Amino acid sequence: MNDIGHFIGGARVAGMSGRHADVFNPATGQATGRVALASAAELQRAVDGALAAQPKWAATNPQRRARVFMRFVALLNQHMTELTELLSSEHGKTVEDSKGDIVRGLEVAEFVCGIPHLMKSEFTEGAGPGIDMYSIRQAVGIGAGITPFNFPAMIPMWMFAPAIACGNAFILKPSERDPSVPLRLAELMMEAGLPAGVLQVVNGDKEAVDGILGHPDIGAVSFVGSTPIASYVYSEAAKTGKRAQCFGGAKNHMIILPDADLDMAADALIGAGYGSAGERCMAISVAVPVGEATADALIEKLVPKVEALKIGPYTDETADYGPVVTKAAKEKILSLVEKGVAEGAELVVDGRNFRMQGYEDGFFVGSCLFDRVTPDMEIYRQEIFGPVLSVVRAKDYEEALSLPTQHEYGNGVAIYTRDGDAARDFASRVPIGMIGVNVPIPTPLAYHSFGGWKRSVFGDLNQHGPDAIKFWTRTKTVTSRWPSGIKQGAEFSMPVMR
Ligand code: NAD
Repeated sequence: MNDIGHFIGGARVAGMSGRHADVFNPATGQATGRVALASAAELQRAVDGALAAQPKWAATNPQRRARVFMRFVALLNQHMTELTELLSSEHGKTVEDSKGDIVRGLEVAEFVCGIPHLMKSEFTEGAGPGIDMYSIRQAVGIGAGITPFNFPAMIPMWMFAPAIACGNAFILKPSERDPSVPLRLAELMMEAGLPAGVLQVVNGDKEAVDGILGHPDIGAVSFVGSTPIASYVYSEAAKTGKRAQCFGGAKNHMIILPDADLDMAADALIGAGYGSAGERCMAISVAVPVGEATADALIEKLVPKVEALKIGPYTDETADYGPVVTKAAKEKILSLVEKGVAEGAELVVDGRNFRMQGYEDGFFVGSCLFDRVTPDMEIYRQEIFGPVLSVVRAKDYEEALSLPTQHEYGNGVAIYTRDGDAARDFASRVPIGMIGVNVPIPTPLAYHSFGGWKRSVFGDLNQHGPDAIKFWTRTKTVTSRWPSGIKQGAEFSMPVMR
């Protein structure tokens, strides 16, 4: 059994609390290690280390801070194979998909190499007679990140890269399901030249999270995970006056108008609905064809594609997706599928009896496709977070628009059409944070900001891009006037003895 501890004070340390959680290889269903669950005392050690390291780090000039990230990016590329293997072995996603997880995080590390420019601020000369006014951005101090299982590389990097580049110390509390990659990232940051104590990893569960939320020395908290916990973290963080950005669950729709390229839409639905076994916050879980003819044609195209999906362990390079993360996740998904059948949705591709030969104990879930799902059904309202796509038939554009508009979640949405006017109207009116026009997973790149609306987010500033620089810094505005200086005493005539 692999014992997974913490990363405190610049080195790996064993857990001292006596509490652990099993870490599984989802493909085999076997526990491969156990991760330590931190106590308040272990969190305090990390906070002490952060308090000691942060002032010097914030005073390190931004070009030097950027250079750590330049080296870190090079190290990530150098260690890509090792990292993808480690990631897949605890998460279950295919190796190629793990690469995407790492690269999307790496891109934010690349983005913050521009921190000298990104932290430049505003200046007004002559705001009044002899008065200048300027703002400066200063690090918050100690930031913390609490991350979900589904992107164990990308989301930690989305948080710690901007936080650290801005001059903060950062304490990461990764998901206890796949903690090994975050620890490795911390080691690589040290190898890149980050001083000890600036990035620390404290593994744990609710106890560690509550420790972070109540800690008076932690000034900012970034959370990504399910909506109930996002809401909890947001309100608890507020009690101790922390700034918080908390990103929650999703139910992303794809609207398919009658003029859409249906082959393109069907392919996009397959990738966005079933990729990573549907365990993405930007997965498309609801397809909304407009009009019966569009719906019938779409179903005809989808069924053979869904049936042909290849499920396998991450070691199988030809697999389209792997197992889900835990036995509990598998059971939850299958029980929701049962519920959908009981509620009267048509299960046109039934993956309930899928068994992975040679991996009978793995957490594999067969691909499921529902037709004639209606908004009152549980499978429509809940985030399933599995390889299950629901088709909700809409009679016209307005009805299609009303579905994502009225759903409690508002993370991402896509529209497939050849009509620029319809796409423009949709993007303007739909109350969702990230919109794709003929793009299925509209995850913004590192230099734009990522975030949903409605109950997919609590807080105001988004992740990465310009918002991240605002979130991880506080603005200080200086108004300055200098008394008349030496220039007024200057002599311009030939000096003579007085
Ligand atoms: P989760 O909410 O179970 O866990 C997220 C984090 O919260 C973990 O670090 C976990 O240890 C901690 N946590 C869990 N229960 C807690 C409790 N009771 N009190 C305090 N902390 C607790 O989420 P997950 O299952 O790891 O991730 C999947 C969810 O994350 C999905 O809902 C998905 O949509 C969402 N997600 C959202 C985004 C986004 O950007 N909006 C991105 C990725 C994932």
